[in-house]
Amino acid sequence: VLPAPAVGRFAPSPTGAMHLGNARTALLAWLHSRALGGQHLLRFEDLDTGRVRPWAYDTTRRDLEWLGLDWDTEYRQSERLDVYADALARLTAAGETYPCTCTRREIQQAILDSAGAPHGHEPVYPGTCRVHAADPGRPAAIRWRVPDETVCVTDALTHETLCQNLPGEVGDFVLRRNDGVFAYHFAVVVDDALMGVTDVLRGADLWPATPRQVALQRALSYPTPRYLHVPLLTDYRGERLAKRGGAPPVQALREGGEDASRVVSALARSLGWEVPERVTAAELLPFWRARLAEAGFFINSQT
Ligand code: GLU
Ligand code: ZN
Repeated sequence: VLPAPAVGRFAPSPTGAMHLGNARTALLAWLHSRALGGQHLLRFEDLDTGRVRPWAYDTTRRDLEWLGLDWDTEYRQSERLDVYADALARLTAAGETYPCTCTRREIQQAILDSAGAPHGHEPVYPGTCRVHAADPGRPAAIRWRVPDETVCVTDALTHETLCQNLPGEVGDFVLRRNDGVFAYHFAVVVDDALMGVTDVLRGADLWPATPRQVALQRALSYPTPRYLHVPLLTDYRGERLAKRGGAPPVQALREGGEDASRVVSALARSLGWEVPERVTAAELLPFWRARLAEAGFFINSQT
C-alpha cells in the first residue's frame, strides 16, 4: 500500500503585513510539503473580520510568490462558514456544547471565588454556564463541554510530548464567540480535517494549543495530522518579532528592490543552515530533508 500523499498548509491571518518571522514559518511549511512531494495549501484565516485588512490577502500572496513559495489551492475561512456551522451542529446534537453569556469580568470573578488562582498560565473558564443556564437576554458564545481526559501530543520534529488535562488546564473553550465568529481552535480543526491536511507545520506559539485541537478532532471523529512546531524568529535580544515590534515587512523589502534570494538566504542562516549568500527556496529542500532525517521523521512517521 502506498502512503497517502502528504498535504501541508500555511495559514496566515490577513490582519497586517507579513514580517520576516511569518516568512520563515511560511518557507518551512512550503519546504515540508514539497520535501514530502505533497500538496501545499494557502489558507487565509480571516474569520475575525474586524481585524482583517483587505489589502493583506494580496500582499501576502505577492510576498510568498516573491520568496519562491507556491501553493496548489487557496482557501478563505470567511467563505466556509457553513462548513463550521455543520460541524458545530454535530457537536451540539451530541450534547457537547452549551451557550455561555458570561462576560470576561464575570469569568475572572468566578475564578477568584472558586479556589483562587489557576495553576496554568491561562485562566480556565470555571464552567459557570454548564451548571447555571446562560442568561437568555444576552448574546451567547458557544462552548465545548470538554471531556474529562488528559490529552497528550508528541511533536514529529521536536519529539516533545505535551499532556494537558482538559478540565483542569484548558476548560470548556469557546467554539463560536458571542458575536457569531467561529473561534480559531474550532475552525482550524475543521479545516485541517476537511482539507485533508496530513502535516501541520506552524510556529511554536501554537504548541500549547495542540492538545485541545487534538481533543476536538477526536470528538468530531477526524484524523490527527502530524504536528511539527518550529521556533519563532527572534531578534538579537531573543524577543519574538511582532507586527508592532518593527519587524521589517516583507513587502518593504520586495518593493525596496531587495533580492529575494538574499532574504531567503538570511532566513535559512537564521536556522543555522550553511547556505550561500543567495539561495532559492527550492535549493533549500535538501536542508529540510536533512532536518527531517535528523528528527527520524522518515523512519517514525511514514506509514
Ligand atoms: N492563523 C494562525 C496564525 O497566523 C496559524 C494557525 C495554524 O497554523 O494553525 O498564527
Ligand atoms: Zn458562561
